Amino acid sequence: MLLEMKDVSVNYGKVSAVRDISLSVPDGAIVTIIGGNGAGKTTSLRAMSGMVPLRKGEIHFDGQRIDGLSSDKIVARGIAHVPEGRRIFPDMTVEENLRTGAFLRRDHDKVARDLDGVFDRFPRLRERRRQLAKTMSGGEQQMLAIGRALMSAPRLLLMDEPSMGLAPVIVEEIARIIEDINAQGVPVVLVEQNAELALELASHAYVLETGNMALEGPADELHDNEHVRAAYLGI
Ligand code: ATP
Repeated sequence: MLLEMKDVSVNYGKVSAVRDISLSVPDGAIVTIIGGNGAGKTTSLRAMSGMVPLRKGEIHFDGQRIDGLSSDKIVARGIAHVPEGRRIFPDMTVEENLRTGAFLRRDHDKVARDLDGVFDRFPRLRERRRQLAKTMSGGEQQMLAIGRALMSAPRLLLMDEPSMGLAPVIVEEIARIIEDINAQGVPVVLVEQNAELALELASHAYVLETGNMALEGPADELHDNEHVRAAYLGI
């Protein structure tokens, strides 16, 4: 397994956000976490990227324990997080935003090549490289957030609600981008409220309900599961 969470609990003060959750990400896979509002999806990703401390449990990445490391160190190990709501820097240009993704890297020649690679993947970002990020559309900002994460040369990409607030045609575009990034060898943990999309993209899925891992299994099996259909697919 590339990443393993074992019996992880996270609290915010006295509020328990997730309890004893375990999850595995095989190398090369797209794994999804679905669930309703406040189920603990964002918290699970934040735990993986070192943005919240664990109350209990362990996280291993590539055979080494990473819980307790700072988020900078976790980025340096190869985990990149595309946060909910994109969190781009609105008053910086597109290119400056992308370069922040590489802030820990010292391999400057390869950074330049990776920037070209991001521009090849997202031609609209190349066209707008000197434009302020805040002037971009929602879909373009999502592409920028993904591009910025790719600039850290990740070995695992964590994506929080990439489809949020986007028109259906743009959601489809983002979905193809996620598939493409994965096909080029980057495993993905995808958090989504859009369960239909998430189960289409992922090979394995986890269902979080009020902080507990309620179900897990191959994505196609969960797609056919009565409870998942009723609660998350509106069928
Ligand atoms: P959503 O899809 O609505 O973002 P989620 O599944 O990502 O939901 P989390 O954001 O992980 O859920 O929240 C899990 C629980 O932790 C919720 O009850 C939420 O209210 C609580 N929580 C999240 N962040 C904080 C915080 N900074 N302080 C206190 N409680 C928090």
